[in-house]
Amino acid sequence: MTVATMSHATAELTRQDRCDRCGAQAFARATLPGAGGVLLFCGHHFRAHESALVAAGAEIHDERHRLQDEVRTPER
Ligand SMILES: [Zn+2]
Repeated sequence: MTVATMSHATAELTRQDRCDRCGAQAFARATLPGAGGVLLFCGHHFRAHESALVAAGAEIHDERHRLQDEVRTPER
């Protein structure tokens, strides 16, 4: 059970992962220590909460580099 939780913590984010704050596509995940829990954030909200999450000892999985790719969709 613990192993499954750990693998989830490092799994890549998908389009089905949504920001817990606003429902936008998530590009960062914070796994809180201890009993913890997993929080998902869009780029905007992760930036807003990043320092507090790090201070709380959360493990950060950051895929904000993918934001660039998502935005840079070729226009046709
Ligand atoms: Zn958000």
